[in-house]
Amino acid sequence: MTDTAAANATDASPGGDPDLIVELKTWLGENWDPDLTVGEWWERLGTSGWGVPTWPVEHFGKGLSRSEGVRVQQTIAGFGALPAPGGLGLLLAGPTITVHGTDEQKQRYLRDIVTGQKSWCQLFSEPGAGSDLAGLQTRAVKDGEEWIVNGQKVWTSGGQVADLGMLIARTDPDQPKHAGITYFVIDMHQPGVQVVPLREMTGRALFNEVFLTDARVADDTVLGGLNNGWRVTNTTLMFERSGLGAGGGSSAVSLATPGTVQGDLDKPAGEFVRTGGRSGSSAGTMFGAGALGLAKLAKARGKGDDPSLRQRLMQLHSLGEVARFNTLRLKAAMQAGKDIPGLPNIAKLSMSEMVRQSRDIGLEIAGAYGTLHAYNTEDRAALDAAIDMPGLAGITESALFAQGPPIYGGTDQVQRNIIGERVLGLPKEPGFDKNTPFKELPKNG
Ligand SMILES: Cc1cc2nc3c(=O)[nH]c(=O)nc-3n(C[C@H](O)[C@H](O)[C@H](O)COP(=O)(O)OP(=O)(O)OC[C@H]3O[C@@H](n4cnc5c(N)ncnc54)[C@H](O)[C@@H]3O)c2cc1C
Repeated sequence: MTDTAAANATDASPGGDPDLIVELKTWLGENWDPDLTVGEWWERLGTSGWGVPTWPVEHFGKGLSRSEGVRVQQTIAGFGALPAPGGLGLLLAGPTITVHGTDEQKQRYLRDIVTGQKSWCQLFSEPGAGSDLAGLQTRAVKDGEEWIVNGQKVWTSGGQVADLGMLIARTDPDQPKHAGITYFVIDMHQPGVQVVPLREMTGRALFNEVFLTDARVADDTVLGGLNNGWRVTNTTLMFERSGLGAGGGSSAVSLATPGTVQGDLDKPAGEFVRTGGRSGSSAGTMFGAGALGLAKLAKARGKGDDPSLRQRLMQLHSLGEVARFNTLRLKAAMQAGKDIPGLPNIAKLSMSEMVRQSRDIGLEIAGAYGTLHAYNTEDRAALDAAIDMPGLAGITESALFAQGPPIYGGTDQVQRNIIGERVLGLPKEPGFDKNTPFKELPKNG
């Protein structure tokens, strides 16, 4: 155990079940070793149940509530150990497989997700199918015990480092557009899959175009049944929206990348804790410092007494707390076999609003410095040396990225449509495509 870890092991943790945190710290004291490789550490963490504590016990979890899960993540990070692997495997693929996968599929995929051995991407959006996702044109045609896939996906986050993809493709164009879709798991390492990165204004290349040319998927990778992909897709989107809206715990996201492509699995786990990882940046998380972090920055910049800024910080903090309570409410309802219609959509809308408010407050605190953005580690160091404002990189990074969250996981406008139609019972948008066979629908280009 390191000195810092030993000191942390005796910290009192406010709120919740103290025994849980004591048990976790004891486990960390016995198991965390910065000299383990990332792969070895995630193997220990993932199979212990502490990696995905909110998942059921039979699926590598501990069946804890979401708030307990956040405390577990924060405790792991606070202890000085490498947190569980992040990414879409844990956020989306795993939970979707838990709901729709066969026992054999759960055996095949879940362990590699919780131990970070495989990285996932989400192959949903296409150049002509984003908000209207059911209009997707990627085709999968049966060939013996396999399917041959042709088409193009876009905005595929993490596609460049993915081992596996959640792929939705049209398997029956004679059916109406929502009915003839199937959800597959595709191996990204094959000649028929070409991944082309797209660079964003943050300077990063988070997402990609993915070209599928005679790519192959096995029949036994179909998740949730043939032509039932729309239902499975909605499960993934539900997890995406409620996960995005949940907030919290983002400080505990691992800086090491899961999967075989990035090469982090073979590096010492301690490298990602001691140095802040490959990026070595002071950029903070993509969602910024949160209300408390921004309040600290405001004070440090001599703006802590500004009444308008204080008001807006309080508003941001309140929004965050309301979002947190709503997530707890939804989780409790779901555990009791009930639902709160529209809450995942509301959670996503509130996350978009918090991101926008954080952007505006952050830039106000930064003042003219907010026009300076460093695109790489060296430039960041130069900027840090030139001006006296720690945290600037986090503010500008979050401000540039703030345009993304209101779009991904379904745009804000689409969330409002869903709430209007499915929760408030307002008339549906006029359309003729619900019952028409997909192949008879007019298409662009
Ligand atoms: C950072 C980021 C990461 C992403 N990651 C992924 C990923 O990993 N995998 C993936 O599959 N996709 C991903 N996406 C894609 C994302 O899901 C789509 O961009 C989104 O669904 C919107 O689709 P679109 O871009 O085609 O816009 P469009 O659907 O063309 O929408 C354009 C505009 O029209 C509005 N609009 C469209 N239809 C309606 C309507 N019926 N009523 C009112 N307004 C409407 C929209 O709100 C929007 O303002 C990502 C996007 C971003 C920004």
